[in-house]
Formats: sequence, structure tokens, C-alpha cells
Amino acid sequence: MQPLVKLFVNRYPETISERNEKAFYMDTATDLDRTNAVVTVSDDLAPVQEMVRACIQCGTCTASCPNEFAMDHTPRQLWRMVLMGQKEEIFQSKTFALCSACYYCTLRCPRGLPLTEAMDALKQIAAREEISKYKDSVQFYKNFLKSIRRHGRVNEMEFMTLYFAALKNPLAPLRFASLGLRLMLKGKVSLLPPFTRKRPLESIFRKVEELEERL
Ligand code: SF4
Ligand code: SF4
Repeated sequence: MQPLVKLFVNRYPETISERNEKAFYMDTATDLDRTNAVVTVSDDLAPVQEMVRACIQCGTCTASCPNEFAMDHTPRQLWRMVLMGQKEEIFQSKTFALCSACYYCTLRCPRGLPLTEAMDALKQIAAREEISKYKDSVQFYKNFLKSIRRHGRVNEMEFMTLYFAALKNPLAPLRFASLGLRLMLKGKVSLLPPFTRKRPLESIFRKVEELEERL
């Protein structure tokens, strides 16, 4: 079974309505607040600017991105904003939060820039700074990883239960009810946990934690 996020990503959406529907689910999956709350970011964008300094604005990253249809700024525009130091606009945007780290843009960028890492760096700033717009999105990622750490792969039912509990919003599950039902009817979501040995990826997670502590 694929991770839930990937179920919403299709390189070639067939129709406009399907495309819009996917955009809706990508928004709600990352649960981005659509309000225009003022964002204050004390982090320096310098490391991210360094990563994309050689960008020539060719747009190959945008043309390659499977999630571009749901983004408010294209990846190419985002890199321009990063280079211009437009923090307010960057962290009001949902573009980097919708990056599913497929590495397609990184592989195709003619300048060989680490674009997926740059997207990740923006996500880390947003999480570290606890920007309210991304709080729910951070919970989404945290609980996704929690489920993977426990089973070696995501258990959608457990993951969504943890995510909804973290949101502390009893109405949140309603937004996903029809999608969840459709996925269950198609056998894409199991109510039972996967049959894997206990915590098969635990040593990898521990190693990553060790490395992160050294940073
Ligand atoms: S593909 Fe690379 S060079 Fe082209 S716009 Fe994107 S980041 Fe810039
Ligand atoms: S790594 Fe992110 S930004 Fe790049 S193509 Fe994939 S989803 Fe789009």
C-alpha cells in the first residue's frame, strides 16, 4: 500500500475536476491554514539561498513537479522569492509544504541544484519557528513518521487517528470521511496493522537521531 500522500499525487491528472479534487485533498492533507496571518521568521534564509544561488529561472523544476498544480507559487517562482529574501511571501505560500520529496526536480535541474533539500530546509524553518500556518502540517508529518517507525511502513488508519488526535479538532475527520470511505471500498486502506516484525526501521531512526544531535 502506498503512503497516503502519494495517493493524492498523479503526474497526469485526467480532467480539470479531478485535478481540482486532488488539489483540495493535498491542501487538506497538509491542512494548511488559508488565512493571511502575519508570519514572522527570524531564521536566516541564507543557507537556502546558497542552495539555489545558481538558478537560471529556466522553469524545468516547475515543469517536472507532480504537485505543481496544487501549489500557489510554482517551484521556479519560489526559488526567485528565496533569492530575493521575500520571507513573508515564502512562508505565506503553501508551495514548499506540498513538496512530496519525489526528487524529480532535483534530478532534472540543469544546474544540478539540491532543490528537494531546499524545500526540506524551508519546511524545517517553518516547523522550528512554529509558524501557526504550518502547525497542523507539522503534526501530519510527525504522525506519518511515527506510524512508519512503528511498522516499517505507514498504517493509514493508525496514522490518521494519531493525526486527528493531535489536531484536537473533533470536526477534522469529517473532511476526510468520503475519501476514507472510497479508499476503504477499494481496499486501499486496511483497518488492521500490517504484518511486519516489530519496529523493523528502529535502528535507522535511531541513527538519524544520533546524526541530528551532532548537527
Ligand atoms: S530547474 Fe534549476 S535552474 Fe531551472 S528554474 Fe528550477 S531551480 Fe532554477
Ligand atoms: S521534489 Fe518536491 S518540488 Fe521537486 S518535483 Fe518533487 S514534489 Fe515537486
